[in-house]
Amino acid sequence: MTETLPADVALVLEAVLGEDDPVHLALRRQVPHLRVQGRCTCGCGTAHFALDTHAVEPAPSGPGTVVAAKVLVLAEDGECPGEVLVFAQGGYLSWLEVCSWSDETEVTLATAERSLRRGRRPSPGAEAPE
Ligand SMILES: [Zn+2]
Repeated sequence: MTETLPADVALVLEAVLGEDDPVHLALRRQVPHLRVQGRCTCGCGTAHFALDTHAVEPAPSGPGTVVAAKVLVLAEDGECPGEVLVFAQGGYLSWLEVCSWSDETEVTLATAERSLRRGRRPSPGAEAPE
């Protein structure tokens, strides 16, 4: 069973997908057509999407599965307890994953949303210094 997009998922997608990237822009246009197919049962907020691919244009992210967007989740104390990843499959929004690296700080969509409201910071790529 699918359900309409919960507000927390919509808010985080909106914050994670920028407006200056053609892939992000195309994915933003898919958000109104998105439905949640299932959510992780642990409470982290990870959501799998169902999308009517006939109703939207695919993003130019290639035929495979890619991380279309990722942002670090920053706690109030400046710690970085996790990140949020947005996956696209074949150019269509596929799922949103909330990753937690911390044993002490619980990372959920609500944590991510608070972090995103405080300011965006791109996640370091593979070339980031140690
Ligand atoms: Zn989970």
